[in-house]
Amino acid sequence: MKAEIISIGTELLLGEIIDTNSAYLASQLPLLGVDLHFISTVGDNQQRLVDTLRQAWQRSDLIITTGGLGPTQDDITREAIAQFLEENITIDQSLVQKFQELFSHYKIAMPPSNIKQAAVIPSAEIIHNPRGTAPGWWIERDARIIITMPGPPREMQLMWTKEILPRLQNRITRAVIISKTLKTFGLTEAEVDEQVSRFLSAQNPTLATYAKSNGIYLRITAKASAHAEAQKLVLERETQIRAILNDYIWGSDLDTLENIVGDLLAAKGLTLATMEAGTGGYLSNIITNVPGSSKYFKGGLVAYTDEAREIFGFHSQVIHQYGLISSEAAKLMAKVAKEKLNTSIGIGVTAIVGPTEIEGKPVGTIFIGIDDGQHSQCFAKNYPGNRSQVKQRAVTSALFELRKILLGGTSCT
Ligand code: ATP
Ligand code: MG
Repeated sequence: MKAEIISIGTELLLGEIIDTNSAYLASQLPLLGVDLHFISTVGDNQQRLVDTLRQAWQRSDLIITTGGLGPTQDDITREAIAQFLEENITIDQSLVQKFQELFSHYKIAMPPSNIKQAAVIPSAEIIHNPRGTAPGWWIERDARIIITMPGPPREMQLMWTKEILPRLQNRITRAVIISKTLKTFGLTEAEVDEQVSRFLSAQNPTLATYAKSNGIYLRITAKASAHAEAQKLVLERETQIRAILNDYIWGSDLDTLENIVGDLLAAKGLTLATMEAGTGGYLSNIITNVPGSSKYFKGGLVAYTDEAREIFGFHSQVIHQYGLISSEAAKLMAKVAKEKLNTSIGIGVTAIVGPTEIEGKPVGTIFIGIDDGQHSQCFAKNYPGNRSQVKQRAVTSALFELRKILLGGTSCT
């Protein structure tokens, strides 16, 4: 079944509100095995809505509209559908009575304009609105379904879950679509593509790669008639991909590196402190995105200048000897953070974020030191980019390497 969503409202076209209704519905349709092919947005203009409906009718089996069901002049969805289907609007008196009862319950007179919301056409079934007055319509004609729902997201979502979803579920031969996203770090998108190229052209499950700020994501999507079957297809492909990219995969779906690292630290009863030069506190910022991170994260030193480093007790002879952008400096920063904040682990990050090179080393040079009291390790990276990209990659690298160490992985250079 091919579906299309039409969001109605001039506010959407003016950018005054964001079309969250479409996003919500788009995330719901895969659960029904419905393929969404188009999302259109149209203003409060009857003729343009009729034109949009005509186009949707030609290419989609299921058309879902939201918005424009209110009582005011600019709410034209019902009128446009009636015009398009060439059906006459009548007023459903039982609905008018229901509205009157509702208004009298709140001790206010029903504005005459509300009568408009009791409009029906012969092929429309009235859908109850559990949270407002504007009812929806369920229309079936010529092997197509049109569903109209109100614009306010709370009303629309409740109508969807309570009224529309069960009806659609009944109506559709069920096919289930399941997705899983695997998150990698350390490879370019081209490298990831190359390694999994044999899966990229498969039809079921499909595989797609996405470059994100904290690495390359792989999304596996399977379709089957039952949930368990779709899940099996995803799992099989996941296992194959993990066999190839295992060292680079750090999580899946809603995982974030800071959450994963936080969970590992908490589970092991370890504490962490950071010292950053170049990334300006970004690492501690990301770590503290996790609620409850104060259980394991004791604090971060932002060693942005020589004065700050002096205060923190970071010996300048290391800089004189090796430079600030060096593995020795990163390791010493880790040690200083660990000792000053009395934690189990310290991380030091030193990076050239640009725009100019430092100590003859290029922009994007990153050193990460990790000190757990027994081992002091350093990881050297090079990720050229603009300031925020280098900072992001330095911080992602630090968490990525810490995760490996916490999982008992071996050290790098
Ligand atoms: P009402 O009875 O409130 O007029 P309606 O069905 O006529 O409902 P609209 O007038 O189109 O709906 O929109 C009412 C409000 O609902 C908008 O001001 C906006 O806040 C919200 N809304 C409408 N469409 C969307 C959408 N696609 N995404 C998110 N919010 C929306
Ligand atoms: Mg309205």
